[in-house]
Amino acid sequence: MINIVLFGPPGAGKGTQSENIISQYGLKHISTGDLFRKHLGEGTALGVKARSFMDNGKLVPDEVVIGMVEDFLNENSDAKGFIFDGFPRTVAQAEALDELLEKHNTEIGCMIMLDVPQDELKKRLLERGKTSGRVDDQNEEKINVRIQEYLNKTLPVAAFYENQNKTCKINGVGTIDSIFADIAASIESHMV
Ligand code: AMP
Repeated sequence: MINIVLFGPPGAGKGTQSENIISQYGLKHISTGDLFRKHLGEGTALGVKARSFMDNGKLVPDEVVIGMVEDFLNENSDAKGFIFDGFPRTVAQAEALDELLEKHNTEIGCMIMLDVPQDELKKRLLERGKTSGRVDDQNEEKINVRIQEYLNKTLPVAAFYENQNKTCKINGVGTIDSIFADIAASIESHMV
């Protein structure tokens, strides 16, 4: 049983590597970005709250995200472990996640941090925008806002997990398979 945070800037490859991790370790995947896009598509009240932030590349307010994650954990309490993809993105979210997991008698085992240079991120996001249909990938200005949000609000989360000795930094440039091999080695070194 292990809970993993997959961490990195937009375009680092979190979604792609999540798929590999899920199939190898049988963890339950929670992507807050995917959940928000689902709410947006269904036009729920939560989707309405999130839309303007997402459309502008800004982070959705903590209380909205944390409430959504809490519901997900309660609905999936039989999971053998979780992979958190795109969450936590602020220190307040990281603190809330520790509290939520404690209520479920568990904790984060490791935080995998995918390291990718900024030029490469922009290139990947613009390329993804051609096929993903994601409005937030199609405009360089919005991409810059998202990267700036990451640097200002999300990067401090790395120190939060470093203080708990849970951070594993992985080079996110290379083939999907070689990056996954590094991730798997880190996960296995943290498994009990
Ligand atoms: P993603 O698919 O992870 O790139 O997320 C797309 C958008 O959803 C982000 O630009 C934010 O507007 C919003 N979002 C996703 N996860 C979070 C989070 N943990 N905290 C705040 N906003 C989030």
